[in-house]
Amino acid sequence: MLELSTPVQYVKGVGPRIAEILAGKAIHTVGDLLHYLPFRYEDRLNPRGIAELRAGEMATIVGEVRNSGLFRTRRMPIFELVVGQGRARLRCLWFNATYLQGKFSPGQMIALYGKVEEDSRTRELQIVQPQYEILGDGSDSEDATERKAAESLEVGRIVPIYEATGRLTPRWFRRAIRTALDHLTPDQLEPIPAAVRAHLGLISPRAALWNVHWPEPGESFENLLTFRTPAHIRMIFDELFFVELGLELKRRQQKARTGIAFRLDDRVRAAIKKILPFHPTAAQKRVLKEIAEDMGKPYPMRRLLQGDVGSGKTIVGFEAAIIAIENGCQVALMAPTEILAQQHYFSARRILENAGYRIVLLTGSLESDRKREIRRHIAQGSAQLVIGTHALLEEKVEFAKLGLVIVDEQHRFGVLQRLKLMKKSSESEESSHLGTAASAQPSAVRRASPEAAPEPDVLVMTATPIPRTLALTLYGDLDLSVLDELPPGRTPIVTRCVADDQSPKVWDFLRKQVEKGNQAYVVYPVIAENEESELKAAIKMYRELSGRVFPELKVGLLHGRLDADLKDQVMRMFQKGELQILVATTVIEVGVDVPNATVMVIEHAERFGLAQLHQLRGRIGRGAAKSYCVLMTGGKITEEGQRRLDAMVQYNDGFKIAELDLELRGPGEFFGTRQAGLPDFRVANILRDAQLLEAAKREAAAVLSGPNSEITSEEISRALVHMRARWQHTYGLVEVG
Ligand code: ADP
Ligand code: MG
Repeated sequence: MLELSTPVQYVKGVGPRIAEILAGKAIHTVGDLLHYLPFRYEDRLNPRGIAELRAGEMATIVGEVRNSGLFRTRRMPIFELVVGQGRARLRCLWFNATYLQGKFSPGQMIALYGKVEEDSRTRELQIVQPQYEILGDGSDSEDATERKAAESLEVGRIVPIYEATGRLTPRWFRRAIRTALDHLTPDQLEPIPAAVRAHLGLISPRAALWNVHWPEPGESFENLLTFRTPAHIRMIFDELFFVELGLELKRRQQKARTGIAFRLDDRVRAAIKKILPFHPTAAQKRVLKEIAEDMGKPYPMRRLLQGDVGSGKTIVGFEAAIIAIENGCQVALMAPTEILAQQHYFSARRILENAGYRIVLLTGSLESDRKREIRRHIAQGSAQLVIGTHALLEEKVEFAKLGLVIVDEQHRFGVLQRLKLMKKSSESEESSHLGTAASAQPSAVRRASPEAAPEPDVLVMTATPIPRTLALTLYGDLDLSVLDELPPGRTPIVTRCVADDQSPKVWDFLRKQVEKGNQAYVVYPVIAENEESELKAAIKMYRELSGRVFPELKVGLLHGRLDADLKDQVMRMFQKGELQILVATTVIEVGVDVPNATVMVIEHAERFGLAQLHQLRGRIGRGAAKSYCVLMTGGKITEEGQRRLDAMVQYNDGFKIAELDLELRGPGEFFGTRQAGLPDFRVANILRDAQLLEAAKREAAAVLSGPNSEITSEEISRALVHMRARWQHTYGLVEVG
């Protein structure tokens, strides 16, 4: 008998050597093997008679190999195989398929699947490049009954098709999985509470395992191909439900901790109103309300503020900061780069200093004397808003009374990194620098429980526009606020894609715009792996542009290798309008805000990722004037590269672009979850299964609100036990519960 947890090598026909190959597919146990789902199915229930085939249809044919061989045309070698059923014959062709030589012998039974076509010359039917599988060999030594059993997995049914791996064919997987199912221990405990199963009409886990591999003859073929049979739904839901259950539990534990209950009274409201340089958008108002309500709760806030580039997150962050400061606490605002930290510092001073708030900037490049002085201000509590890079966390900065941490992460950070950040800023007991500070108790603080030190609130601001349902899983332990509206008066950016050789025209256009009083960026790719040579190219282009193309204009250069002072100086000159054109690498990608810049030329745009292009473009279109983004391309462009460029030309909306990006790259790459250690789902696909994901989240919340008339406490604890095992073994995620 096999358990789901039994190592896969104990399945008959596997053994240590094959187990090694399987390990490459992350198949270690019987359970893993059974979660290796067919990526499609073939209807071999009614293999078609050759005589009844019609051109244009997809068909499965089971027949006997008559003859096969390679012939050469002027253009390429073609492999031809003739399959027969009685007197009927059908020709199959594979182009360039020298590798098929010697694979078939007359008399073999073979299954073929593909599109039936009419040969344009002979008018005969044929199948080009069919999928094929050799069912049985005339020379097989197996005895007849066993062979028959094996064949019964291959024809006369809906056949599961698995992705081959190494020398393990789809056919091998059919046999191995069938054997594993045949020997699986009877009934495992049902870990999903009955009420949840009823809501979703879930079948039992065992039935799901069987049917997903061996569908009943009556199963809807369309549901099979779209992963929507009851068996698929059970397996997908299963996976999503226990992830959501873990996240939901974490959220609840979060809320049981001691935080600071900030007061938002008329005085604080007036203070916020005083600093606002413009009327907030409806979205900004709504989001601030959500944040303020959270900050008022006696448990620590863990909130994600998501908003497209230019949606106005900064001011919302400042408003939250005022709430904390007016309650006698300090605020740390962390940016991903020094340039951005600096920019935040300048806008904070512009917006907040008149109101009398004391703001400091603490970055690595400061002189050590100056640093020491600033640290002293922070430790004494005289600095109210501390702005820096994430190094604030690494360097041992002591706060007098830290109440709020704002992480402006844009899209730079993977999920796990973020979790680490949040953990660090909340580990008060474990002598974390940010945490220790939080133990001093400001007047407005009420403690939820007397023994624990209150943890600061955390607000993470991100420019990665993730479709809401996906945000639910990825940030399931955070509350989510979305800024889904741009400030008024923005005209959509016009984006064009042109080839390198058009550059004189592009420079002319740029000159005209600058003559009107606007400013422009020219961006070069400098990607880490080719940093040296690309940096040289960027510098060379800067010389070319400043010396030859625009001798009459003021052109600046900004890249990551410049020392901080110089960077600072260049940025400030551009901000003040003393530079008209800024040649830059992607250091400007995050957050830089110069509303008068209305033109961006991106060279070698095909080398950038979609999210990155969108971020870059987000540097323009920030004022009322019409903005233009020119994507220049040089050299060969891949098909995917072209789709990225097309998407940029077509869409301005970050959500739309994120969706496309997600499609192009797949969830793993998109979120950087692989490095970040987020659940690598085995059967679920968060794109395809968004609805089930929502259901899973809803049901998980309902279960944790129990026990009640629907759900017993025994069911809840069984689900939790199962969930913990899953989280530990399957996802290797941070501990829950
Ligand atoms: P992001 O969300 O990308 O961080 P910012 O906070 O930098 O966006 O805001 C982008 C620009 O829009 C800034 O110049 C900011 O001053 C401006 N802005 C923000 N909110 C409003 C508003 N409600 N009305 C007018 N301008 C706004
Ligand atoms: Mg920003």
